[in-house]
Amino acid sequence: MTAAPVLRVDGLRVDYPTPRGELAAVDGIEFTVERGEILGLIGESGSGKTTTAMAILRLIQPPGRIGGHATLDGGTDLLALGEKELRRLRWRGMALIPQGALNALNPLLRVGDQLEDVILTHEGRGARKGLAERLDALYQTVGLPRRVGRHYPHELSGGMRQRVCIAMAIALDPPLVIADEPTSALDVIVQRVVAQTLLDVKRRLGIAFVLIGHDIGLMAQLADRVAVMYRGKIVEIGPTEELFASPRHPYTRMLIDAVPAIGHKATVKVAEGLAPDPFDQAPGCVFQRRCPYVFGPCRVAHPPLERAGTDHSVACYLLRDAAAPTEGASA
Ligand code: ADP
Ligand code: MG
Repeated sequence: MTAAPVLRVDGLRVDYPTPRGELAAVDGIEFTVERGEILGLIGESGSGKTTTAMAILRLIQPPGRIGGHATLDGGTDLLALGEKELRRLRWRGMALIPQGALNALNPLLRVGDQLEDVILTHEGRGARKGLAERLDALYQTVGLPRRVGRHYPHELSGGMRQRVCIAMAIALDPPLVIADEPTSALDVIVQRVVAQTLLDVKRRLGIAFVLIGHDIGLMAQLADRVAVMYRGKIVEIGPTEELFASPRHPYTRMLIDAVPAIGHKATVKVAEGLAPDPFDQAPGCVFQRRCPYVFGPCRVAHPPLERAGTDHSVACYLLRDAAAPTEGASA
C-alpha cells in the first residue's frame, strides 16, 4: 500500500468543558485507514468512539473543542477546512452512518425520494439523467429489491432500513464511510445480513470503512484491522486475526475473554472493576485502575503507542519486557 491512506488521523482530541471540569472525550489518537479496508473501532460505551467519528466529520458542537489533524486522501486537513468546503466533502469525500441511523430516516419521505435527494443536492439537477438506473444499481449493491424505493421507512424491516442507510452513505461513491454501530439495534440474524452487505460494498466498490461496534465476533468477521479504545485513547491497533488471536494489551484480552465461547460453560472471568471515570485525572496509564498487571511506571505516565509487530502497536509498559522502565522514567 504505497498510496496515501484514505484517512490519516494524527493527535486528534476532543475536549468538553463540563461543570465537573474538562472532559477529554478523545485524548490524542492517531491511526490511518488504508484504501478499501475496514478498520474496526471497538471499546466499551463511553470510550470515545462516536466522538472520534463526529470529530473527523467536524460535527462536534460547541462548547466541544477539536484539536489535531485529520487528512483525507493525503489532502488538506479536514480540521482546518471552512464550513463551505466541508459541506462539499461530506457525503462525497466521506459519509457517516450515524449511531441510530435506521431510526433517523425521514418518516415522511419515500425511500427512493430520500436517496434521490442526497444525489441531487450534491450533484445538481444534471444528475437527473440516469438517476433511475443509478438507484437500481444502489439497491442491488446493498441487496434490496428496487421496489423498496416506493416504500416509506416504517414499512421496511430494521435490516432493510439499515441497508437503505448504507445505500445513502455510498450514493455519491465516497472513498470512506464511517459507520457507527450499524448493526447494534438489529436482531442477531439480521446483523449478519447487514454485515455481509457492508462486506459486499467494500469488495465491489472498494470503499474503505471505519466500522464502530462492540460485537467482537462481528468485528472478527468484518474488519481488516482493529483499533481498541479505552477512555479516549487507542490502546492497541493491529491486523484483526493477530489482534484477536494474540492480544497484547490487557484490556483487549479482557474484551476477548468476555465473549462466551459456544459450548463452553466455564465461568465467565470478567474483571468487572470500575467503569472508566472520564474525569479521573490521575497521572499514568488510562487503564491502570482495572489492570491486573499494573506496576510502577503505569502510575507515572500513559504509555505511548509502540510497535509490537508488523503493523501492530500497543500502549503498554508490559511489552517492554525486560527493558521496562523504572518508576520516574518518562514516556
Ligand atoms: P462511545 O461512542 O465510545 O460510547 P462517546 O464518544 O459517545 O463514547 O463518549 C465519550 C465520552 O465523551 C463519554 O464520557 C461521554 O460522556 C462524553 N461526551 C460525549 N458527548 C459529549 C458532550 N456533547 N458533552 C460532554 N461530554 C460528552
Ligand atoms: Mg457511541
